[in-house]
Amino acid sequence: MGRRSIDAQGDGPSVSGSGDQPKGDATRVVSAGRRAEWTQGIVNPPVWRASTILYESVAELRAAGARDTHHRLFYGRRGTPTQWSLADALTELEPGAEATFLYPSGVAAIAAALLSVLSPGDELLLPDSAYDPTRSMATGLLKRMGIATRFYDPLIGAGIADMIADNTAAIFMESPGSLTFEVQDIPAIVAAAKARGVVTLLDNTWATPLFFPAIGRGVDLTILACTKYIVGHSDVMLGSVTAAPGRFAKLRDTSFQLGQIASPDDCWLGARGLRTLAIRLAQHQSSALKIARWLKEQPEVSAVLHPALPDCPGHDIFARDFRGSTGLFSFALVGATEAARAALIDGLEHFGIGYSWGGFESLALPVDPARYRTVTKRHDIGLIVRLQIGIEDPDDLIADLAAGLGRFRAAVA
Ligand SMILES: *Cc1c(COP(=O)(O)O)cnc(C)c1O
Repeated sequence: MGRRSIDAQGDGPSVSGSGDQPKGDATRVVSAGRRAEWTQGIVNPPVWRASTILYESVAELRAAGARDTHHRLFYGRRGTPTQWSLADALTELEPGAEATFLYPSGVAAIAAALLSVLSPGDELLLPDSAYDPTRSMATGLLKRMGIATRFYDPLIGAGIADMIADNTAAIFMESPGSLTFEVQDIPAIVAAAKARGVVTLLDNTWATPLFFPAIGRGVDLTILACTKYIVGHSDVMLGSVTAAPGRFAKLRDTSFQLGQIASPDDCWLGARGLRTLAIRLAQHQSSALKIARWLKEQPEVSAVLHPALPDCPGHDIFARDFRGSTGLFSFALVGATEAARAALIDGLEHFGIGYSWGGFESLALPVDPARYRTVTKRHDIGLIVRLQIGIEDPDDLIADLAAGLGRFRAAVA
């Protein structure tokens, strides 16, 4: 079986075929990216590891170097069918997208996306609710390169138009925001950006393309920390950027120049996780909603910051724009002290204490948004706990949290 047989030169269909009938989410994630020339009949695309690719002659080597290497074996850093398959799968999940590049982490994906659109002298607009490492990148690396950042209220909506300056080159969005879950008016921000020729980027890790197909809503570059729901098992670091038409070439050039490559083994695990994304998200969604609604009834809880609940800033926009909700949200405690919050979390049986989220297991984390923010401190909400609701039985998680609120009550009494 020669190498040429696995090189995909066109945009051939994956196993989903090319029927016109729109497919449901669970069907799409099962079939996405599984091209016959890459799977060779194996159900999930196998691991193709490579650094050197051998050529049969000098002439063939030269011809390979002169061609576009997209979806062609060239050198390991340009990927193998394992990476191409996952990248294509993520592209297929974003109707209207051009292509996807994969990275060894979500933060690496954010860096490459920003560096592909920003140059010295440019300005970036970043929501105050952005993931903290994204902030650090803006105030550290980007600043050092002569790229300025202005932070904006995540709820600014169409008002973003007044912030766009002559040197504003990109508007970054993250919706809902990290820790406090403000839902952004992405269509309004995209419209204001397009009117001024400004590029838009979205960190879409929470919703995934299933619950917010970002490219179809006009976003130029949509970013996932695949580490979270795509992988889904808390055992792999992986990131992706999916580009709207005309946006991929610069992203790919920048990523190649940075030497970015996600390992085939990690991409294989990412593709394996992807197959169950729709059923996992359905469970995360229903369990998280059940627990959020239960928390809302508890006297120790002052607010539940879950985009599908009215306490959450931007809830109306969520209801208008999103196809579903996932398993990560926060709640605020009445009259909390640090020690009482720790007593709640420390004794939980089914919730681990740790960073990241999106795996099958539940997590609880004390979070303090005011530590990171500048323009919207959110001091008003007091001490909060962020929960990642896994796929355990939700009633067991509720019993666990009820006992935790009991410990909290005892500690503040
Ligand atoms: C975790 C996370 C990231 C970063 O992903 P890593 O794979 O951990 O680098 C980016 N954005 C959001 C919203 C995240 O939660």
